Amino acid sequence: MRSSAIAVAVLGVSTLVAAQAPSPTKASPPKTMRLYVFDCGLLNISKEGVERYHVTTAEAGETRMPVPCFLVAHPKGTLMWDVGVIPDATVEKAGTGGAHYDLNAVAKAVVTRTLKSQLAAIGYRPGDITYVAISHAHKDHSANLNLFAASTWLTPTVEREFMWKPGNERVEPAFYTALEHSKSITIDKDEYDVFGDGKAIIKAAPGHTPGHQVLVLQLASTGRIMIAGDLYHYPPERTFHRAPPDNEFSVQQSAASRAKIEEYLTKTKTAIWIEHDFGANAKLKKSPAYYD
Ligand SMILES: [Zn+2]
Repeated sequence: MRSSAIAVAVLGVSTLVAAQAPSPTKASPPKTMRLYVFDCGLLNISKEGVERYHVTTAEAGETRMPVPCFLVAHPKGTLMWDVGVIPDATVEKAGTGGAHYDLNAVAKAVVTRTLKSQLAAIGYRPGDITYVAISHAHKDHSANLNLFAASTWLTPTVEREFMWKPGNERVEPAFYTALEHSKSITIDKDEYDVFGDGKAIIKAAPGHTPGHQVLVLQLASTGRIMIAGDLYHYPPERTFHRAPPDNEFSVQQSAASRAKIEEYLTKTKTAIWIEHDFGANAKLKKSPAYYD
C-alpha cells in the first residue's frame, strides 16, 4: 500500500501541468489579509498511537485528528501553509470513500477532497501561489508539496536536510521531489516576516522535527492567531505539561519550544490553533468562507 501510494505520487508530478487549466474566476489580491482553511483529510489513531502523546484515550476524548491546510491571501501575495497527507493525484483516482494511506502502524489517513479543487473554488491554482511553507516535513503535512514547485519555498536549512536524510522513516521524499530545485528562501533565525509588514510571521519552534515552525498571523478583524503545527496534537497535552512524545526528534528541544511559545502567546495575546485538534477544527470556518 505504501509503495503504490508513492508510485502514484511520483506520477502526479508529470501530470501537474496538464491538470492546471486556467481558472475562469481568478482571485484578485484582497485589500486586507485573509486566511482560508481547507479540509485535507482525517487521521484515525489507534489507542497505542494516542498514548504516544502521553495522554490516555479517555483524556483525549476525541482521538481522530483532522488534517487542515491553510492559504494566507495577502495584498502582496499568497502563502500556502501545510499541504495535506495524501497527494491530490492519488485522491483523484480513489473511489467514493476517499483515498487511504497508512502513515505508520498507529495512524491511518483518509482523504476525500483534493487541495487543488478547494483552491480552484476560490480562484487559485497551485502555480499562482507565491510562497509555500510547512510546519514540518512529516507525511501528514507535506503530501502536496510537489504541486507548489513554482512557489518560493520558505524553509529552515535543518528541516531541508532532515527531508532528504537517508533512512528517515518519518518523511516521504516522493511528496516533494519537485522542490529539490525550486526557488527557496532559507530561514535561519527565530522569526521570518513573510510579506514584510509583520502580519504573517513564521516562528521557529524546533523539537518535533529539527526545523519545526509555527505561523503567526495578525488579522484585521480576527486578531492574532498562531497556527501551531504539531507543537501539540491533543489539547490536553497543553494543560497537562507532561513530557513531549518520546518519538520527537528532540524531546528536550520540544519542551523548550513549548515553554517559549507559551510565553510568547501570553505576552503577545495570541490565540493558538492546534492543527490536529478535532473539536477546534470542527468549529473553524472552512473555505470558501475565510478569516480576515
Ligand atoms: Zn501532524
